[in-house]
This record gives sequence, C-alpha cells and structure tokens, in this order.
Amino acid sequence: MKTAEIFHSIQGEGKLAGVPSVFVRASGCNLRCTWCDTPYASWDPQGEKIGVEQIVSHVREYSARHVVLTGGEPMIMPDIAELCSALKAENYHTTIETAGTVFVPVSLDLASLSPKLANSTPHEREQGRFARAHEQIRLNIPVLQQFIDSSPEFQLKFVVAAPGDLEEIQQVLDRLTGWRKEDVLLMPEGVDAATLHERGAWLAEVCKREGFRFCPRLHIELFGNRRGT
Ligand code: SF4
Repeated sequence: MKTAEIFHSIQGEGKLAGVPSVFVRASGCNLRCTWCDTPYASWDPQGEKIGVEQIVSHVREYSARHVVLTGGEPMIMPDIAELCSALKAENYHTTIETAGTVFVPVSLDLASLSPKLANSTPHEREQGRFARAHEQIRLNIPVLQQFIDSSPEFQLKFVVAAPGDLEEIQQVLDRLTGWRKEDVLLMPEGVDAATLHERGAWLAEVCKREGFRFCPRLHIELFGNRRGT
C-alpha cells in the first residue's frame, strides 16, 4: 500500500478521541477536498509502497492496541482487505477513516464515515479543475448505508464550516437509516486553534439544540497541524 506515514499518537476525533493509537496513512485519494488537511496524501500524494507484512511489523513496534487506517482514502487501496485481516489476526482494534464513497468488505471494528458536503468542493483551488469530478462522487448514499449496515460500530462525522451546512447534513441523514443521534458527530472545519475555537463555539450550541455529538480535533489542539501527530 502506498503509505504517507505510520505514527503513534492520540486519536483526536470521534468516539475514540483520546485513545492512544497507531495511524497508518494511505497515500492517494479519489476526492480533492478544498480544505484537505493532508494534501500529502491526496492533492500531492507522497510516500512509498509498503507491503502488508511490513506495515503490521511497524505497527507492532508501538504499544497501542488501536490502529487507525486513514488517508487519503484507505478504501481505494488494493491491499486494504488483506491489511485489515492481518491486523484482526493480531487482535488489534481497527478503525477505518473513510469518506464512504467506495465499499469493499473488510474486517474492521469502527467505520469512521466522513461524508463530504458541498463545502468541500474545490471550485477555486487549482483553477477548479477537480471540482466537477469531486462533486460527482463526493457523496454516495448506498455506500454509506452499506458501511452502516455491515459494520460492528460506525460514526458519521461531518466537517462543518458554516451554520448553513446543517441543512445539507440533515438532508444526508434523511436518506440514511439505522443511525442514532449519538452516531452523528459535528466537527468544526479548521487547522488552527483560533478557527476551531470560533467555529466550535457556535457548533457546540447546534449540538446542544439538535442532540448530535460535538467532535473536537484534539490533535490540532495538542500538537498543531503537523505531520506525524
Ligand atoms: S477525502 Fe480526506 S484525504 Fe481525500 S481530499 Fe478529502 S479530506 Fe483529503
């Protein structure tokens, strides 16, 4: 799998926020979110191809029992199923962080689904050359439903940039079944503490009103927007 980085950190987002975890970041993505905070795994994918056995052996070097397969988009990696099975064989708890546009049957413990809203479409970045392709595939309701129906645990994590995004989130949720309000996490968009603080203030009020979970970005608060954290 083309891999941008493997590192040991604290899970910063979602139901497992705070849990020490090893992150395996697949390099390459079928989307081009305008605010992508890991461009080295999407817009400009970097890294080397590493075999499954080598990845697992790297993971073993750390004490954490939780592994997060992230990206980029891990679900487009040809050896993702093999990697998940290898981690399962060693009793790791595996989270897959995915935009939920591609489904492949894999062995996982938590499907962290992050459906991309219209605020992600890159209308201006690189003269908008990826906007149309991104817009066409950014949201795939049948695939999201497949993950929800087949995963032992899942979460729906939405990146929120403005209060107006709420209407679109509700429209997405209306098209999905089998979720509870505690499965829905609203996360402020931003890669610096000031932006997260400003957006977090009104987003927390939205969560109180709607009963959704507020999703912090602990790793940004703790380490800043740096690779390997
Ligand atoms: S899906 Fe994730 S990795 Fe891909 S472009 Fe969007 S934010 Fe970046």
